[in-house]
Amino acid sequence: MSLTLRTAVIETAQAMSAAGLSVGTSGNVSVRGRRGFFITPTGMPYASLRPHDIAEVDWKGRAEGSRLPSSEWRMHLDVFAARPEVGAIVHCHPPHGTSLSCVRREIPAFHYMVAVAGGNSIRCARYETFGTAELAAAAVEALQDRRACLLANHGMLALGATPQDALKLASEVENLAGQYLRALSIGEPAVLDDAEMQRVLEKFRTYGQQRPRPHLAWSSQK
Ligand SMILES: [Zn+2]
Repeated sequence: MSLTLRTAVIETAQAMSAAGLSVGTSGNVSVRGRRGFFITPTGMPYASLRPHDIAEVDWKGRAEGSRLPSSEWRMHLDVFAARPEVGAIVHCHPPHGTSLSCVRREIPAFHYMVAVAGGNSIRCARYETFGTAELAAAAVEALQDRRACLLANHGMLALGATPQDALKLASEVENLAGQYLRALSIGEPAVLDDAEMQRVLEKFRTYGQQRPRPHLAWSSQK
């Protein structure tokens, strides 16, 4: 079990890097376990990670393993504690999302896909020093009823039931951030109103779910 979770952390961190969501050793990935969570170690290139390099942090914040956990372990701990439905967290410093975070702008409903993060905006958490309990608290607050947020002058956080979900959401939010930046460069983007975003959110709840195939009458009659 632990090996599977460690491997999932490594594969997700490497995929995050390959997708251009994080440069060098920036960002971190965690996956929920039973006694705590598994997280990328601090300061190690993702390409060289082996399962024993992944740090385990218990629910009291005590780290185990030969490597020190990412400096943002506290943010992961507090988000897991506040959000029992979350199984994995991706934190990165992608170009577009981070640029927006530096002007401390949230992503409003300029595009209906903003609903992918769970609401009618993707908030930007207030600035706090990296690695602090204050940043963890700011992130939890910005993630209220959301699955992703920006972190002021820092980067982005995306949550998922699985590491794949969290990474997919991080890519989607980065894509939206890029579109929003481009739209801002040529004018003031039109923002969809709350009623429209409610419709979109409702559609998202059922989107992608296959309906049972209608009964084929002819086949049972023959
Ligand atoms: Zn960071």
